[in-house]
Amino acid sequence: MILATGGYSQIYYNTSNTPGINGDGLVLAYELGVPLKDMEFVQYYPTAAGKRGNNLLLYEGFLFNGAVLKNADNENILVKHGLNDPQVITRDLLAQTIFKEIRDGLTIENGLLMDLSAVSEERLVQLKSMLPQGVAEKNKCIVSPTTHHSMGGVVIDSNTQTALGGLYAAGEVCAGMHGANRLAGNALAEVFAMGGIAGRNAAINAEENNMNIVLEDQIEKEKERLKSLFSQSGEDSKILVKSLKKMMWLRAGIVRNSEDLEKALAQIEDFRSKSGKCKIEIPRDLMSNIGLQNMLLLSEMVCRSALLRKESRGSHCRSDYPLEDNTKWLKNIVIQKKNDEMMVNIHPVKLAYVSPT
Ligand SMILES: Cc1cc2nc3c(=O)[nH]c(=O)nc-3n(C[C@H](O)[C@H](O)[C@H](O)COP(=O)(O)OP(=O)(O)OC[C@H]3O[C@@H](n4cnc5c(N)ncnc54)[C@H](O)[C@@H]3O)c2cc1C
Repeated sequence: MILATGGYSQIYYNTSNTPGINGDGLVLAYELGVPLKDMEFVQYYPTAAGKRGNNLLLYEGFLFNGAVLKNADNENILVKHGLNDPQVITRDLLAQTIFKEIRDGLTIENGLLMDLSAVSEERLVQLKSMLPQGVAEKNKCIVSPTTHHSMGGVVIDSNTQTALGGLYAAGEVCAGMHGANRLAGNALAEVFAMGGIAGRNAAINAEENNMNIVLEDQIEKEKERLKSLFSQSGEDSKILVKSLKKMMWLRAGIVRNSEDLEKALAQIEDFRSKSGKCKIEIPRDLMSNIGLQNMLLLSEMVCRSALLRKESRGSHCRSDYPLEDNTKWLKNIVIQKKNDEMMVNIHPVKLAYVSPT
């Protein structure tokens, strides 16, 4: 069996990922006792079109060709923050800078303005297909940072085997391939390379072990459990999902600190107690509620790992620990379910080939 359900970017309000990328595969693996790691490493893209960054991704092609990012005070924020040198600017740095501008109230319609008036007409014609409709004509567009990729996930070995015999995983559901931050373009290389390995190994394993498993009694038990969740009163799971996503975006997203992360964990507990008393009348309500439970679990994993990692590394930015700390934090944070508890442990990184120190 192969897990290939993608990452968990949908636990955040702003995301470029399609609906459904909720991290269900990670939860399935976790519930089976399979270790997950690096859950604090979530990648954010700086300048996506649309108020929630769920539209086209506009960055290098525009900012390096004359487009200007402006805040509500009409300031050029790259100049303001000394980021106008392409050698200095990175996607992370820009996402963090824009997030701070928005959080400090210098926002325009929940984002910033990308002014295209200095982009040459010739270049604009070339880039037009990347722009939302009407933007090229108006010469401006609202952009905001968005959750883009999950580096954390299921622990696999080089054969894509998880800790559970016969269970393989490939793609964004896995951890480890991109370390603390993914380089642009590498996700698709991962998907093709690891997907091929997983497919071959899972097929061989299924053949050798005659994997015709039908767990009739467990299926019946699960059906009974799901039936017992139906209720005619209570809160709407969809509304709780939206509130959870907004909370995660503000407290456990691009820029984090211990106070916000502690508050996020307390709020997750509050959401969890409400999630057990939701109105579930039709199968769609049930799906929303299961989605909510999964997102709560993943949000807790992200917050606990982010709180534990007292440094900034890769995509993980702590305003209270702004520096990378290779003396203390050359570590992976591993999460595993044991005796119904979420265990969070620190493991040294295996440095087989190169070392940063
Ligand atoms: C807008 C955008 C642009 C990108 N551009 C690039 C790029 O240029 N280069 C690059 O390398 N990477 C890029 N990426 C990243 C890359 O696309 C992803 O990392 C990659 O697609 C992940 O592949 P995957 O197969 O692991 O998961 P996905 O492609 O996310 O597929 C997971 C599938 O599992 C399904 N699924 C999830 N949960 C369930 C469930 N419970 N039951 C049944 N099905 C389920 C989902 O519906 C989905 O079809 C981009 C990502 C985005 C969002």
